[in-house]
Amino acid sequence: MLADYHLHTPLCGHASGTPEAYAVRARELGLPEIGFADHAPMPFEGAEGYRMKLGELPEYAAAVRRCREAFPGLAIRFGIEADYHPTAVEYVARLLKSHDFDYVIGSVHYIDDWGFDHPLQAHQFETRDVYEVYVRYYGLVAELADTGLYDILGHFDLVKKFGYRPSKDTAALERTALEAVARAGMALDVNTSGLRRPVAEIYPSLGILRAAREMDIGIVFGSDAHAPGQVGLGFDRALAQVRAAGYARYRRYAGRRYESLQLP
Ligand code: ZN
Ligand code: FE
Ligand code: FE
Ligand code: ZN
Repeated sequence: MLADYHLHTPLCGHASGTPEAYAVRARELGLPEIGFADHAPMPFEGAEGYRMKLGELPEYAAAVRRCREAFPGLAIRFGIEADYHPTAVEYVARLLKSHDFDYVIGSVHYIDDWGFDHPLQAHQFETRDVYEVYVRYYGLVAELADTGLYDILGHFDLVKKFGYRPSKDTAALERTALEAVARAGMALDVNTSGLRRPVAEIYPSLGILRAAREMDIGIVFGSDAHAPGQVGLGFDRALAQVRAAGYARYRRYAGRRYESLQLP
């Protein structure tokens, strides 16, 4: 079975279940390894309910440590999902130095101050040029990679979440962003949460994974669970999709270094 590297905790304000409850579920499924990657603090106004506060980081670290002690038979990693926003690069850099994370997932959830992946803000797709949204989104993904701050690119094609697709082809935009990911030595988060969204697809798509495979970009797996019942959800489909893309190996991280393992 695969490792699930994208688990949230209630500290972000929109997930339920203790870390121990996620670990119990992982054990039931026979996962060899899990990693928490809760939403990192950001220096934004009104971020309540989206992420932990800066002062809660030690509490997050302690919660993962407690969980690790309670489940000695399960490898439990201490990760974090940190946003990329051009105004907060220094803030994130400082934050990442403050704790010994096993890995850092970098995600683009904002285009300027538009939280485009939030259900309550998705309506803006209706009044924007969708191709321009994709141009901006993939531009930010490349900028994220170029900072060199992150290990894993979270849900690479998140911009498709609500099913808005431009009529123009986006392969060149994706390719440019993938090249930045490859240059940075980052892995892609093969994220099954898209199966639970209007788009009903894994992030990234098969086509993107094929291109990534050709560029020798590594992968990890994540359910993006915000509740214990979502741990490992859709991993059978994720495994089939990465195999179809030509992948034979995946990565595991510890201390911000990775090793590459054979897929099960
Ligand atoms: Zn979340
Ligand atoms: Fe995310
Ligand atoms: Fe997440
Ligand atoms: Zn995520």
